[in-house]
Amino acid sequence: MDESDFIPLSALQHYDFCPRQCAFIHLEQVWMENAHTAEGRVMHETAHSGNSRTRDGVRIVTDLPLSSRLLGVSGMADVVEFHREGNVWTPFPVEYKKGAPKNHAEADAVQVCAQAICLEEMLGVKLTEAAIYYGAQHHRREIALDAALRDKTVAIARATHELFASGRTPPPEKCPHCKSCSLVEICMPDLLEGAKAAKRANRYLQSLWNPADTAEEAP
Ligand code: SF4
Repeated sequence: MDESDFIPLSALQHYDFCPRQCAFIHLEQVWMENAHTAEGRVMHETAHSGNSRTRDGVRIVTDLPLSSRLLGVSGMADVVEFHREGNVWTPFPVEYKKGAPKNHAEADAVQVCAQAICLEEMLGVKLTEAAIYYGAQHHRREIALDAALRDKTVAIARATHELFASGRTPPPEKCPHCKSCSLVEICMPDLLEGAKAAKRANRYLQSLWNPADTAEEAP
């Protein structure tokens, strides 16, 4: 894929969380900071200190630019650790999250898997593991970069490119993620769900009063 067609790597995580949220952020440039995102931003800024250091034999690099032609993405890694085995330094991406692993944890795994695929392409290596650090729990979750996660990441990248190409924001699909979505006030899934329910009720009543009219109505 040509670099001019690359999309932000972070869009894959946003898409897997919710395609509508992805479109709000990347197509409409809408972003609302809430308590979750504010703390997350501070944490990312700490992780993105631009330093490179060595701790316990592990070289730690922050702010590492990444890209992949396979996925058609470019972005930045929070932290990439380089683990030494003999004379070989193997990269190990670590994504920093403010919260705890919740119902959208798989979207985080897609993001770090995309980072790993970028590193593989850029450095000509094969990675087997990555990690996500959840600040709320001070918990580091190891992620196996298996075939299922890689296939899912490639599929999400394709779907995200299609969303960008369409230029359209999908309608809301109320789901458990909405509770932790920073854009819930803009999206208003309850209101639109309510409007859809009202429309359905209206159609039903119309069908009772005048079946001939509603029979021709589009579904
Ligand atoms: S509120 Fe729900 S449907 Fe709306 S953008 Fe957020 S996750 Fe998606």
